[in-house]
Amino acid sequence: MSFSVPDLSYGYDALEPFIDVETMKIHHDKHHGAYVTNLNKAIEGSEFAAWPIETIIKDLAKLPESIRTAVRNNGGGHYNHSLFWTMMGPNAGGKPSGSLASAIDRDLGGFEAFSTEFTKAGLGRFGSGWAWLVLDQGKKLAVLSTPNQDNPLTEGQKPLLGVDVWEHAYYLKYQNRRADYLESFFKLIDWKAAGRRFEAAMG
Ligand code: MN
Repeated sequence: MSFSVPDLSYGYDALEPFIDVETMKIHHDKHHGAYVTNLNKAIEGSEFAAWPIETIIKDLAKLPESIRTAVRNNGGGHYNHSLFWTMMGPNAGGKPSGSLASAIDRDLGGFEAFSTEFTKAGLGRFGSGWAWLVLDQGKKLAVLSTPNQDNPLTEGQKPLLGVDVWEHAYYLKYQNRRADYLESFFKLIDWKAAGRRFEAAMG
């Protein structure tokens, strides 16, 4: 078995004007495509090729050292981007509702405080990485950022929402204006999907 890039559930132009069609094409087909190609190259012929990507990322420490870094980077890239495409959608944005909204109120001081903290996490990530809303091991929400293609799952936290702050995610349209890109991301968040992830993670 080998990994492949999942199709988008919407068109390349569906996130306009917040994410331009050219960025979506390059990001999905070329960047995500390269992570998948390099992941397959790294684990080809090993028992790990049959593992679900989520298990690989959760149990990175079980992989032999000879391939661990390649899988951390490229398997992480595959997993992060597979999540990312489903965390956004056309006609989305707004605010969370239901149990996730209540948990944000309880653990993070409300939606406005969450937005500020999430944006700060994205802006504060030096170089390349991601900002996340996660459910931690104590079943509390937290905001954090990870470098490169690391995913919170490796540290035992469940990712509910994440934003890619690598320059390739926004440079064509926003150049150096990462703050503007993050502001636009809020117009694209699929809160229903995040709510479903939250409920699944709560068990
Ligand atoms: Mn990316």
